Amino acid sequence: MNFNEMNLIKPILRAVEEQGFTSPSPIQEQSIPLLLEGRDMLGCAQTGTGKTAAFALPILQQLSKSKSKNIRALIVTPTRELAIQIQENIEKYSKYTSVRSGVIFGGVGQKPQVDMLRKGVDILVATPGRLNDLVSQGVIKLNKIEIFVLDEADRMLDMGFIADIKRILKQLPAKRQTLLFSATMPKEIEKLSSGMLKNPAKVKVAPVTCTADKVSQCVYYVDKKNKVCLLTSLLKKEDIKNVIVFTNTKHGADKVVKLLAKEGITALAIHGGKGQTARQTALKSFKEGTVNVLIATDIAARGIDIAELSHVVNYDLPDVPETYIHRIGRTGRAGLTGSAINFCNFDDLQNLRDIERHIGKRIEELESKWPMVILEKTEKPVREPRAKQGKKDEAMTKTEHVFVQKEREKKLRERDRNRKFGKKRK
Ligand code: ADP
Ligand code: MG
Repeated sequence: MNFNEMNLIKPILRAVEEQGFTSPSPIQEQSIPLLLEGRDMLGCAQTGTGKTAAFALPILQQLSKSKSKNIRALIVTPTRELAIQIQENIEKYSKYTSVRSGVIFGGVGQKPQVDMLRKGVDILVATPGRLNDLVSQGVIKLNKIEIFVLDEADRMLDMGFIADIKRILKQLPAKRQTLLFSATMPKEIEKLSSGMLKNPAKVKVAPVTCTADKVSQCVYYVDKKNKVCLLTSLLKKEDIKNVIVFTNTKHGADKVVKLLAKEGITALAIHGGKGQTARQTALKSFKEGTVNVLIATDIAARGIDIAELSHVVNYDLPDVPETYIHRIGRTGRAGLTGSAINFCNFDDLQNLRDIERHIGKRIEELESKWPMVILEKTEKPVREPRAKQGKKDEAMTKTEHVFVQKEREKKLRERDRNRKFGKKRK
């Protein structure tokens, strides 16, 4: 399949060609013809599958047919970063059309956004909170929307945006084309979609493990206290061009930035607790390569597209296996190889098991200088002295390592057994 065979108009094809896209991605190939026909759609696809162009190209084609002073397409997405990224992409794809787009999000003053809206846009990309604010202020009217896209719907629900979405839906005209995209399809999403979509085409693209297959994965068993030592040494030794380090909490992300700074490594954090400017600056510096280490939480990093990301580090393993796939799917894109390095401490062992089950294979284990010791509480953190880096490793002997391994397996078996019989014993 080729973009030329999709009945797209010349100005759009030209822009797509300029992006260097040779053929449509699977989701694009499936969605574009259906959307050009005006169908509603329920799309199930992970990040990095090319959803933006899948909905943006048909929208551009539709809006190019006639002119209007109103907002005619609305794309709602959970985070500011995603909103910005989507609008940047639309800008590129619409380069040779007269369709104008704009983006609004919270956390910054609304004045420039209001000015932009006054000038008029055909396509608006928005986060739910700011959108509702401006709607209630009367700055935005949604009664002329022809196409509505709800992007990353599952994440939207996780972030507690359900009430906002319902408010938005009430403002939209009944006659419209509606698209809903979600990486996962839990019950709530199915319910939401049945209320907002009419006879939708269901499009699903290949299971995510495909992405995971292109990424080499390994795990270090390391105590919590020693994670930063391990990270420092990896950043210094390994051939890491650029890396996103995932932590499970905002606090954790900030802490890692501080600890790395002490070791002379510059990193920036991106998470929901940061101001908008700080988040954008961090992202920009990382994309441009002035900073090579980005410490991120899931929400802030979701969907962010960094071309040529060489490494992902799971400083904390995620609780949900799907999140693991999302995280590591950021590297190894577009045929490049990528590496995912996982840190696993004792509390994470069950999560690691769940992840391995989800991806259907074992993750290769590597030895570190700071292995996980079973009696974590009595153990003191080991700092790698900066001056002594050339000196001989004080690594565990093989026997010690094997011992730790065996203990670990034993604990895991016990844990599994307790899980199975836990109820009866109580
Ligand atoms: P998603 O929204 O599914 O996470 P994006 O739309 O952000 O994915 O696209 C992910 C990356 O793939 C972007 O860098 C985009 O430019 C690129 N891309 C999209 N479509 C194609 C294509 N047909 N060929 C090559 N690259 C593409
Ligand atoms: Mg996207």
